[in-house]
Amino acid sequence: MRIGFGSDTHRLVQGKPLKIGGISIESPTGAEAHSDGDVLIHALIDALLGAAAAGDIGELFPPGDPKWKDANSMELLEIVIEKIRIAGFSLGNIDCVIHLEKPSLKLYKSAIKKNIADFLLMDLDNVSIKAKTAEGLGPIGLGESISAEVVVLLEKTEPDAWV
Ligand code: MG
Repeated sequence: MRIGFGSDTHRLVQGKPLKIGGISIESPTGAEAHSDGDVLIHALIDALLGAAAAGDIGELFPPGDPKWKDANSMELLEIVIEKIRIAGFSLGNIDCVIHLEKPSLKLYKSAIKKNIADFLLMDLDNVSIKAKTAEGLGPIGLGESISAEVVVLLEKTEPDAWV
């Protein structure tokens, strides 16, 4: 079994769409990013790559590369999960924390969980989504940024080497 950890932060700006875990969130501010700025998926990708000791998201999808401009992060996740499977790993469970002051994610958490579980062909029981505010403190508390942290467990089920 291999544990991976990933985290990501984006600046929030007026008039940008906000996407978390592939779900569109109704919000006056959204993530400033080269891609669609989905912090949760970016943290998940880094956690998966971390568990496989296979580098990080910036190496795989360089932020300056026009190929990934406005990229749908779910497509990046698809590329990474394919690599993880080819390397002989299967997914155990995923545990996520989203740090966002506003809007409340209470009504979105189950949709985010289902979207990730369905996309990765996992049982809902193996995907956990938690959301926290920062009690008004720091850039997250002031609504200037959003962060996510993800831990994943991979299990080596095939002996194939990393490709
Ligand atoms: Mg990011």
